[in-house]
Amino acid sequence: MDRATAFAVSSASTPVGAQSDLPDLANFRDTNGHAVSFFFSVQSIPDKSHHTEVTLVRDLVREELHRFDTRKDPDLAEDMEAVLGRAEEVRENPLYWRVAYACHRKGFWRKFELPAPKSIRQLHVGERFLLAPMFWALNFCTPYVVLIFERGRARLFVVRGLQIQEFNGRLPKENITLHVRASRSESEKHREHHLEGHVRVYLEKLAEKVRVFLADEKLHQLVLGCREDLWGDAKSAFAEFEKGILIGRFSPSGYDMSATEVREATYPIFEDNRRKSGATLLEIIRGEPAHGAVGVQAVTERLIEGRVQKLMLGKPVDGEVNECDNCGRVQPRKGGPCIYCLNTSLHGVAADEGLIRQAVLTNAEILTFDEGEVPVFSGAAALLRY
Ligand SMILES: [Zn+2]
Repeated sequence: MDRATAFAVSSASTPVGAQSDLPDLANFRDTNGHAVSFFFSVQSIPDKSHHTEVTLVRDLVREELHRFDTRKDPDLAEDMEAVLGRAEEVRENPLYWRVAYACHRKGFWRKFELPAPKSIRQLHVGERFLLAPMFWALNFCTPYVVLIFERGRARLFVVRGLQIQEFNGRLPKENITLHVRASRSESEKHREHHLEGHVRVYLEKLAEKVRVFLADEKLHQLVLGCREDLWGDAKSAFAEFEKGILIGRFSPSGYDMSATEVREATYPIFEDNRRKSGATLLEIIRGEPAHGAVGVQAVTERLIEGRVQKLMLGKPVDGEVNECDNCGRVQPRKGGPCIYCLNTSLHGVAADEGLIRQAVLTNAEILTFDEGEVPVFSGAAALLRY
């Protein structure tokens, strides 16, 4: 395996970088059944001297290899070595997911790092790569912007799962105290009025900069942090964001709060918004049967027609879809030959894997939810394009 061509989404770049690889992953098929998918994270930093994470991964590998004879499959042994190599990297950033997709026989190797705040330990060897765990992680790493502001200064952050990054130099600064001093000779009332005007102008300028930042970075969710007494002044400047982009507000513990504190204070707002927007989407899907599909069978059919705009999956997604042994294409589970090539041998695959693969190949947005995250929703639902 040529490690020089190995590709990584670095922790500083967006997990969206993985998006361009998704069609490759979805299309990949090894009829020998040696496609390796590996997902690993540790939620607490293991003791340095014990290399706990390496032991854990070694156990996973041993368990999975029971099914294979690696003396006859040297390629697979090679892939497992690569997986163990990833375990060695865990220590660099223990909380991040290590993801690897490997098939040495076909020269395929991709690795990703995802700052997903969930724990996972999974190794799978089969004909296809597993996509569901990757999407589960991606959904908890959807980026959102946090703006903390006062009268005349502001800080801007982007949060992705466990990761938070501050963006300096993208915001206007207004030295309001200077204006106050300049107008010291004026009456107190006039001075206050003057100050108010400056604050208003500043907040409008700030809102405009944030709008540009969101557009440039293609981000769609914003959390505002300001003291309650300032919100009265700020509300009108940020009114435009209320339409779907502003997902919540919080009172910062202080203007200089650490990035970690900012993430901790705002991630619950992001999670709450996930739940709410999931419930709203489900309501739309159920309310308009002509533009929605519910259930694995119906959603599979709409996906094959290329009509799905948003695929919604709630754990557990029970059931299976069919895959053709010959052409490898996903189709609804019913008797009869392959709907594409008329081959008569088909096999079942887990519904979530089949639906996600078909969604990737037809450019549908994929939204995954944990059990109970959206009330009374499990399985599959879809919002249709037409
Ligand atoms: Zn077929």
